[in-house]
Amino acid sequence: MKILGIESSCDETAAAVYDNNGLQSNIIASQAVHEQYGGVVPELASRAHHKTIWRTVRQALDEADIQLDAIDAVAVTQGPGLMGSLLVGLCFTKGLCLSRNIPLVGVNHMDAHIYANFIDNQPEYPFISLTVSGGHTQLVHVKAPFEHALLGQTRDDAAGEAFDKIGKILGLPYPAGPVIDERSQHGDTQFHDFPQAMLDNDFEFSFSGLKTSVMYYLQDQKDEEEFLSEHLNDICASVSYAITEVLIKKLRNAIEHTGVKTIVLAGGVSANSMLRKKARDLAAEEDCELYIPKLAYCTDNAAMIAITGYMMAQRKMFAGMNLKPFANLNAINK
Ligand code: ATP
Ligand code: MG
Ligand code: FE
Repeated sequence: MKILGIESSCDETAAAVYDNNGLQSNIIASQAVHEQYGGVVPELASRAHHKTIWRTVRQALDEADIQLDAIDAVAVTQGPGLMGSLLVGLCFTKGLCLSRNIPLVGVNHMDAHIYANFIDNQPEYPFISLTVSGGHTQLVHVKAPFEHALLGQTRDDAAGEAFDKIGKILGLPYPAGPVIDERSQHGDTQFHDFPQAMLDNDFEFSFSGLKTSVMYYLQDQKDEEEFLSEHLNDICASVSYAITEVLIKKLRNAIEHTGVKTIVLAGGVSANSMLRKKARDLAAEEDCELYIPKLAYCTDNAAMIAITGYMMAQRKMFAGMNLKPFANLNAINK
């Protein structure tokens, strides 16, 4: 079986081919246009997807050395994401499927972040996923393929959003997550004790207070600019410490509560080096198997859409031409 996967939920236009022999191609066109605005501008994202999508798909097929007619199903991100961006991917994919009579698969982007772990590995069910991305922070109990129970999620900002917003306060470029990660490696994690929220709750998260506390902490300094130039790395390290501590404590709660012995990390923040290290330590302490996607499969990509589409097609989970995009998880069946 040969699956073409297409991703356009946010600011990455991406296409990949996955078949019985594994991943055959994985193309990403990232949209640089948003950098100057310090965040994704939805209208510009849709236009950039529209401009690049055919070229990206063509490149994925060429690199996999496969003709469109040999594709058994096309998997496309259905949501969550920016409505305009999703519509470009969905309309393009439906056109492609209609014109060549190819079956269509609608993929949940958050499921795909989780199943990115299956590109190079075969985690055993049941497992707990700590899904940490730009828009979501969730603990998911994956009991069997596509049988998920949500244990808890963030009540406000996502972990990636916290990194990005705090980065903005610190004057770092967007997205700030990778920059804070890099700077943290040269800073002191104990420089300042930033708050770890909601530790009395087992599985839920809150990160919006952290951002406010960083803001007030900087305002309290005599000379903010001088303080930042001297201690930027220390602040980054202390912020990374606070975020990753909360994530790992809740992940520990999840495995102890469920008794599940397999853990996966998923989403852009699973690229974070401090989180990866703490997850390895946790897995060793709790005697768990741990899976973390390769860096290229942590942030948005189409390889994760293609593998999830492949797993769905194997289970005959096809969609009709009435497949609708959904902007957020609450709106899935509305
Ligand atoms: P969602 O998947 O929830 O719809 P998204 O697709 O925008 O949101 P991803 O592409 O999974 O999110 O991840 C992007 C996020 O990951 C950004 O917030 C970015 O700052 C963060 N991120 C990427 N690399 C790192 C890193 N090394 N450390 C911390 N955060 C990181
Ligand atoms: Mg992005
Ligand atoms: Fe994502």
